[in-house]
Amino acid sequence: MRLVIDYKRCRKAGQCSYLHPELFKVDSAGAPVVLVDHPGKELHEAAEEAVDLCPNGAISLTEDP
Ligand code: SF4
Repeated sequence: MRLVIDYKRCRKAGQCSYLHPELFKVDSAGAPVVLVDHPGKELHEAAEEAVDLCPNGAISLTEDP
């Protein structure tokens, strides 16, 4: 699984990095950055919650090719 942010949708409010600092951080420009591109099993629940909680639908989990 791959954790991805669609920057065309992201409003940079920082909800993801606030709620899940184990998966995201905020860069110096205020944009969220994915810390764990390929979350392991122990982080799947948190990653799925981040997908659900992003108010702009900017976070997605995709299958690895
Ligand atoms: S929660 Fe969604 S809209 Fe908000 S900063 Fe994170 S990716 Fe962007």
